[in-house]
Amino acid sequence: MSKLAKFAEDNGVKYFMISYTDLFGGQRAKLVPAAAIADMEEDGAGFAGFATWLDLTPAHPDMLAVPDENAVIQLPWKPEVAWVPADCIMEGEPVEQAPRNVLKKLIAEAAEAGLRVKTGIEAEFFLLTPEGDAISDPFDTAEKPCYDQQAVMRRYDVVAEICDYMLELGWGPYQNDHEDANGQFEMNWDFDDALVTADRHSFFKFMVKSIAEKHGLRATFMPKPIQGLTGNGCHAHISVWDLDGKTNAFAGNAGGQIGEVGLSEQGGYFLGGIMKHAEALAAITNPTVNSYKRINAPRTMSGATWAPNTVTWTGNNRTHMVRVPGPGRFELRLPDGAVNPYLLQAVIIAAGLSGIRSKADPGKRYDIDMYAEGHTVKDAPRLPLNMLDAIRAYDADPELKAMLGNDFSASYIKMKHQEWNSFVSHFSNWEKQHTLDI
Ligand code: ADP
Ligand code: MG
Ligand code: MG
Repeated sequence: MSKLAKFAEDNGVKYFMISYTDLFGGQRAKLVPAAAIADMEEDGAGFAGFATWLDLTPAHPDMLAVPDENAVIQLPWKPEVAWVPADCIMEGEPVEQAPRNVLKKLIAEAAEAGLRVKTGIEAEFFLLTPEGDAISDPFDTAEKPCYDQQAVMRRYDVVAEICDYMLELGWGPYQNDHEDANGQFEMNWDFDDALVTADRHSFFKFMVKSIAEKHGLRATFMPKPIQGLTGNGCHAHISVWDLDGKTNAFAGNAGGQIGEVGLSEQGGYFLGGIMKHAEALAAITNPTVNSYKRINAPRTMSGATWAPNTVTWTGNNRTHMVRVPGPGRFELRLPDGAVNPYLLQAVIIAAGLSGIRSKADPGKRYDIDMYAEGHTVKDAPRLPLNMLDAIRAYDADPELKAMLGNDFSASYIKMKHQEWNSFVSHFSNWEKQHTLDI
């Protein structure tokens, strides 16, 4: 009996949702009855790749999404359905640009270097009205709403239901809070291997949206859904371990400013890779037009955007692109809620490995409040100001493109240029207001 057929029998699953994530982060799925899962488990479920964002044509042969049976998750809110992330295959070969394949290739490369990357993410979200045009809680209006006790309790039914499910799934959730924008929440669970975190990140988005819908609300991970309020970040915490996962290769004392914050030489180089490729990797960590309303943003109503503007790193200080909150790990604060869960992990490993290979220097540590004193920093690059600048920076970084795969990079750049062209051909109200009477 196939592993998934057995899983269905043991757990009362009626349908499997065979799911893959396309280049724009969309989750695509087929619902397969348990009676038909044995064949699909081996051969995969067929998809017309062109119908999703994967840079395929209508003439391409069928793409097959082969479920990863080790990653199956039974939906806690609908136990007769089980979600299985899948790997995209075409004519017996992995589809190079499919995000989960890109990540698996980089994990294998890290393993060849004797390294195992573990990460945790903080996927912030807003709870809006079903139409998505207003914060769902009309009383959530405080100027500094972060950790608002009363407001988090008004959304207790949604938050606790999701947290209960994470407990049930064994993810090790440990805190939930109201975040820095009105209507914004964050839920944290334990870090794990990069692929596990990427699958959980995908599932978390699916779960949050589903439970919000169940309660008559709409959840969004959009980077900046409401002008003037803090946006949805998706910080990533990163550490690198030896292959058996017991020794943290990032913990140590490399000496100098790196050693002072508890990072090893290797940790310093990995960080150096992130710093070196930051402007380019923003094309992946901040993938949408709207992403650039979150970074480089003016001060928000709460007093701070909590998002970076420049490529700088620091110790336990939340105003820079990279924060080292404690020994043996660091936090990349650049990614936002639109980030593709698989490409996020992939680009971190790609930049980090490239940094280790080239012994990249992360540069000077800044221990200042970047929001108040950022103007005093003269030598740090600015993050891209818009999606086009980011795509161009990515295109101009041959090392990062090769690390992620040249086929993937070519597809990604092509699709993102198309998206940008669609955006700029859109006639906006702003231009009318600013040009009508000229
Ligand atoms: P903060 O808000 O201070 O940035 P959170 O507690 O919200 O931090 O999130 C921290 C994330 O980092 C969690 O997912 C946690 O499991 C993860 N994390 C903690 N230690 C490590 C580590 N050594 N390596 C990778 N991730 C880690
Ligand atoms: Mg947090
Ligand atoms: Mg954080």
